[in-house]
Amino acid sequence: MLFRSAALTDPLTGLANRRAAEERLTALTQGGQTYTLVLFDLDHFKRVNDMHGHAMGDLVLRGVAEITRQHLPEGSLAARWGGEEFLLILPEQRDKHLRPLLDRLRADLRHHRYGTVNGVTACFGVATASPAEDPVEVVQRADLAMYHVKEQGRNDVHLADLRRTQVS
Ligand code: GH3
Ligand code: MG
Ligand code: MG
Repeated sequence: MLFRSAALTDPLTGLANRRAAEERLTALTQGGQTYTLVLFDLDHFKRVNDMHGHAMGDLVLRGVAEITRQHLPEGSLAARWGGEEFLLILPEQRDKHLRPLLDRLRADLRHHRYGTVNGVTACFGVATASPAEDPVEVVQRADLAMYHVKEQGRNDVHLADLRRTQVS
């Protein structure tokens, strides 16, 4: 049991790791449940490392994880998806609830002091799964939405278009 939990935890932040997130997505899909994904990537994080050192970068990642945890609705999972990229799996959210939640999270990330680093921003992409949709596709849609924000100038949220339903 201990080994299993270590295998599913990101050692730096204590969040779920990518494998744990993938397992959760598979389980939700197999159980016929829909969900909302939020993928966010810290802005210009390479600069943080370059200016403040890698150890301070690590401290920022731990701080981001802790703040993110505080904003999670019940029944959600937060994972470290890759280096400075995080994935949130939430019970299906209405836009009108999710927008303010992510705006509060963004404000807290921006106004927190992480050691010598004064606030961080991130780009957020959001996608909601259709019933039985392949999770790989849902992640891809969230990823595209996130990159859209990078292209638009960073530090914002973008909602992916709904999957096109085939009309025959
Ligand atoms: P963008 O706004 O386009 O996302 O720019 P960026 O600099 O955040 O993106 P880029 O992909 O160029 O750099 C990501 C950086 O994140 C580089 C890498 O060293 C750093 N990084 C990834 N994982 C870790 C980690 O565990 N600790 C630290 N300190 N840095 C990390
Ligand atoms: Mg990245
Ligand atoms: Mg980045």
